[in-house]
Amino acid sequence: QERLKGLAKGNKPEPTHVHVIGAGVMGGDIAAWCALQGWRVTLQDQSPERIAPAVGRAGSLFRRRLKTDREVTAALDRLIPDHRGQHVGHADVVIEAIFEDREAKQQLYQAIEPRLRPDALLATNTSSIPLEELATALSRPERLVGLHFFNPVARMQLVEVVRGGQTAPEVFERALAFTRGIDRLPLPVASKPGFLVNRILMPYLLEAVELVEEGVPPARIDAAALEFGMPMGPITLADTVGLDICLHVARILGEAFGLAVPVRLEQLVADGHLGRKSGRGFYRYH
Ligand code: NAD
Repeated sequence: QERLKGLAKGNKPEPTHVHVIGAGVMGGDIAAWCALQGWRVTLQDQSPERIAPAVGRAGSLFRRRLKTDREVTAALDRLIPDHRGQHVGHADVVIEAIFEDREAKQQLYQAIEPRLRPDALLATNTSSIPLEELATALSRPERLVGLHFFNPVARMQLVEVVRGGQTAPEVFERALAFTRGIDRLPLPVASKPGFLVNRILMPYLLEAVELVEEGVPPARIDAAALEFGMPMGPITLADTVGLDICLHVARILGEAFGLAVPVRLEQLVADGHLGRKSGRGFYRYH
């Protein structure tokens, strides 16, 4: 309705087609969220077998959030698997959510840039790679912006909108508007290690891990945080985020700001205890 009103007033139409590359934990859920919000979404992955589970998760989300079967079917119809990536050139917004690997992202950008619409927004969901480094792969680096969603996408209202050194102001503004348009709260941040959220969150989580190392039981730490008013204790939160992801971010912040990485965290990850997703982290899950 809002989009139609905008058109009636002669405004430029809002983006209507989002193309997501990477159908993993984040890309799959970002695609689902955009489809839930009424956007036409195409979803691509180099491993096409990753797409079906993502669509399955989207179906569960739609059934939880929408009232009628008709609405659920319509939302599923808006989420279109794109096995060969042929829709990337039609999209208003392209969101890249592939592995956190600089070369892989750069290679992908080189491959897709010639096919993008000249006015298409190119966004990366990177958690830690400086946008300036990724943008070196583009002939128009000013079109790259960060859209850092949090996991789980459907429950986390905040999206960090990351301005790289070369991001054009108009691109940044459109990324903020797009984020609001999919009913998320944009937080403008600079492309610095950890952006804002991880830079604040990680020292807090690591301090809790240090306490475990000193012998304080995880349940006691979590109970204290809950009593203090936190929605979830820091140790449970670390297990939920994934200890491998915590370690990765901790190392980056360690390099940038001298943050100490607790041995306990290194050990758990080395032993394959990655938190909730692997069935064991600081706690055990069944
Ligand atoms: P994931 O491993 O679950 O999914 C990545 C997907 O990308 C895989 O399905 C893989 O097949 C696909 N892929 C890899 N290279 C590709 C290519 N060249 N073309 C097409 N598809 C390709 O990873 P994830 O956890 O969803 O993370 C994706 C991005 O989101 C990373 O940049 C990560 O840093 C960021 N991120 C992750 C989280 C999180 O909590 N997992 C949170 C915020 C941001």
